[in-house]
Amino acid sequence: MQLPEALPKKEYVLVIDDTQPNLHLLVTMLTRRGYQVIGVSDSLKAVSTAQTEMPDLVVLDINMPNMNGFQVCEQLKSSDLTRDIPVIFISARDEVLDKVQAFAVGGVDYITKPFQIAEVLARVENQLTLRRLQRQLQEQNERLKQEINSRIIAETLLQEANEKLGRLVNLDGLTQLANRRCFDEYLDQEWQRLARERLPLSLLMCDIDFFKNYNDTYGHVAGDDCLRKVSLLIKQSVHRPADLVARYGGEEFVIVLPNTDIEGSIAIAEIIRQSLQELAIPHEDSAVSQFVTLSIGVTSFVPMTDSLPSVLLTAADYALYRAKELGRNQTYQIG
Ligand code: GH3
Ligand code: MG
Ligand code: MG
Repeated sequence: MQLPEALPKKEYVLVIDDTQPNLHLLVTMLTRRGYQVIGVSDSLKAVSTAQTEMPDLVVLDINMPNMNGFQVCEQLKSSDLTRDIPVIFISARDEVLDKVQAFAVGGVDYITKPFQIAEVLARVENQLTLRRLQRQLQEQNERLKQEINSRIIAETLLQEANEKLGRLVNLDGLTQLANRRCFDEYLDQEWQRLARERLPLSLLMCDIDFFKNYNDTYGHVAGDDCLRKVSLLIKQSVHRPADLVARYGGEEFVIVLPNTDIEGSIAIAEIIRQSLQELAIPHEDSAVSQFVTLSIGVTSFVPMTDSLPSVLLTAADYALYRAKELGRNQTYQIG
C-alpha cells in the first residue's frame, strides 16, 4: 500500500513493547513518518522514561512481563506530570474485556496485533491532532483568562482612579471636609428638594476668631493643624446622613442641616462651641479667650421655589458678621 508522503513532524512518541521485533518495527515506521520516537522494551522503565521525556503520545503494549500495559497506563494517569499524555494500546489480545479495561485505565485507543502500518499511523496521527487541538484550546483559554484578569485589574484601577478623582474634586485637601464646590452643589440640591417638600433648611457659618493672630503667634503649620482639629470637631458634632460640613474658605466652615429648624440649628452651633471650649486649643493672642473660639451665624428658612439659595448664604453671612460685631465667641441667629 502506498503511504501518504511523510511530512516533517516534531511530535514525540514513546513506544513501549517488550517484543523487540515489534518495538523495532513501530519505532522505524513512526520515525519514517517524521515523528521523533523513543522505544522502551522494559515496562519497569516506561513510567520514568515518560516522566523525563514527556512525549506527546504513548503507544503501549499490554502483554509485558513484570508490569503489564494496564499497570503502566494506570501509573501514567496517576501522576500530574503524565496524566494528559494520550495512550494508545496495542495488543495481540482481541478480547472485548481487554479493550474495555484499556479504556477504563485511561487509554484513548486500541489497536490489535497484527497491525496494519497505515492503521497505526492513522490512529497515532488522529490522537496527536486531538492533542494539538486540546493544547490550542488550553492555550486560548489561558490567554482569555489572562486577558480577563488584566481587564479586571484595569477596571479596578480605573474605578479607584475615578473614586480618587471624585474625592479630589469634592474634598478640601487640608481638612478632608467637603470643599466649596461640593457645598455649592449640595446647597442647591437641598434648597430645591426642601422647597418641594416645604421643610426647613438651616445653614451655619462658622469663623475662627482672631485666626490671623493665631498664625502670627504659632506659625502657619500650627495654624493648619488647628484648622484640621476644628474641622474634625465640627464634623463630629453633626450626625444625620443629610448633614454636610464644608470648608467655605480660609478659617470659615459651613454646615448644611436639611429638615432642621432654627432651634435645632442653634443647639448644634452651641454644641460645637462647647466642644471647642472643652478641646481648649491655646490661643494667647485672642482678644476674647485664652483658647481658640468660633463665631457662628445661624439661619433657617423653608425655601421658596422661586428664590435662590444665595438668600440663605447672605443671611448666614450677616448673622456671622453680627456675632463678630457683638464680641465674637458666640452664636447669632436670623430666621
Ligand atoms: P476674625 O475674628 O475677625 O475672624 O479675625 P481673623 O483674624 O480670624 O480673620 P481674618 O479674616 O482677618 O484672617 C483670617 C486668617 O486665616 C488669615 C490667614 O492667616 C488665616 N488662614 C486662612 N486660610 C488658612 C489656611 O489654610 N491655613 C492657615 N494656617 N491659616 C489660614
Ligand atoms: Mg474669616
Ligand atoms: Mg476669623
